[in-house]
Amino acid sequence: HASRPLLPGLIEACHAVIASNADHLGELDRAIGDGDHGTNMKRGSEVVYAERDQLGSLPLPEALEKIGMLLVTTIGGAAGPLYGTLLIEMGRGLRAGRGNGVLVETLPQAVAAVARRGRAQAGDKTLLDVLYAVQRAVLKQSPPAEVAAYAMSAARDTISMKALRGRASFLGDRSIGHMDPGACSCALLTGSICRFLE
Ligand code: ADP
Ligand code: MG
Ligand code: MG
Repeated sequence: HASRPLLPGLIEACHAVIASNADHLGELDRAIGDGDHGTNMKRGSEVVYAERDQLGSLPLPEALEKIGMLLVTTIGGAAGPLYGTLLIEMGRGLRAGRGNGVLVETLPQAVAAVARRGRAQAGDKTLLDVLYAVQRAVLKQSPPAEVAAYAMSAARDTISMKALRGRASFLGDRSIGHMDPGACSCALLTGSICRFLE
């Protein structure tokens, strides 16, 4: 993909995977939430997609922060501020020279910021379960295909969990047996990003 600017290409890949899985994400959210996760993610990804060339012309830290802010305001719901926090914190981390300017090394602090924002921890059956898996895989320098597999396996692991955060937690034990929609979107996005970077 050397001929293609990196960020617009990544945005296209994310947009495509959300567009083709929005209905599935909606179904997952109908089972244990309010059914809007697919439309929420689609709204966010379409706005970022429309701005991809402009975003691609910005320095990466600024672009990430800007995407994060767009996601907060356009995805909305619970997921918007969480995905938004992730990107904003990665941008801030890069800008501050964290991890020697290596993007993936900004992940631990960004994921920790998501956890604080959601007051959630590992095992709560949220997108954080996938983010932690991605963080672990990336920090041990797993190849992209392996990172993607870890992410999907972490999303699958949410099926047997009881939701302790977000709307799904209102269901108590009845949330068991369903994949968390946010964990699913996070694993799909990870897969799409990893395939692009491979
Ligand atoms: P809403 O629940 O407001 O309708 P979405 O349906 O777009 O928002 O997103 C739901 C997803 O957000 C959940 O599947 C879960 O992964 C994630 N989520 C919700 N609340 C939290 C939280 N407090 N901490 C971490 N993740 C959360
Ligand atoms: Mg919802
Ligand atoms: Mg909602």
